Amino acid sequence: MQIAIDGPAGSGKSTIAKLVATKLGFIYCDTGAMYRTATVMAKQKGIDYGDEAAIMAALRGLDITFKPSPDGQLVFMAGQDVTLAIRQEETTNNVSQVSALPKVREEMVRRQREIAANHDIVMDGRDIGTTVLPDAEVKIYMVASVATRAQRRYKENVEKGIMTPVAKLEEEIAERDRKDSTRAVSPLRKAADAVEIDSSHMTIDDEVQTIIDIVNKKRLKTQN
Ligand code: C5P
Repeated sequence: MQIAIDGPAGSGKSTIAKLVATKLGFIYCDTGAMYRTATVMAKQKGIDYGDEAAIMAALRGLDITFKPSPDGQLVFMAGQDVTLAIRQEETTNNVSQVSALPKVREEMVRRQREIAANHDIVMDGRDIGTTVLPDAEVKIYMVASVATRAQRRYKENVEKGIMTPVAKLEEEIAERDRKDSTRAVSPLRKAADAVEIDSSHMTIDDEVQTIIDIVNKKRLKTQN
């Protein structure tokens, strides 16, 4: 079974997707981490974030792998642990430029389909239900207000010792939404057959349970 979870930055997708995958015993794939890793790679190699040819030359053959750990999923780029680097502000504020490059998307979508081919999977991102896994049995589109998302990011940041004001975070989130939804190739969009969940006023447990209920209903339907 394939479960696609899409939505804008900070909508809580990855927290929920991880929990749903654990509950169901499925693997989890964080596609945002893959675009973030490409962004870190460009930074490390001094490649301009808009230089598609140079990014592609470096990306081909570059291993991006995930490894579960007690503290959450670790991300490796050619064996280098980039788990922290991919969450830094520099990466967050430039990933939308890298992810808008058509050839980069083509390569990532190919890799993502390969990962999904042989597993029951929960995959989260922006274009999973529309492009990567258009036949996914369950498609979820998660939304939350910009204010809620900025508050969540603020709390996460404070835990990491980053003190960006909420107003600045709101601006950054709105800007990333704008870039992700207006790019030419597979923009952030709700698939026609996706179920929308507004998480602004829901607890994490409620969100997870809502998705598990949708999965169970789907399973019953397929059996009958
Ligand atoms: O999900 P996360 O916020 O980590 O994603 C980081 C960025 O990667 C997004 O802002 C978007 O530009 C890009 N992305 C994408 N397609 C996906 C997943 C992420 O373009 N499927």
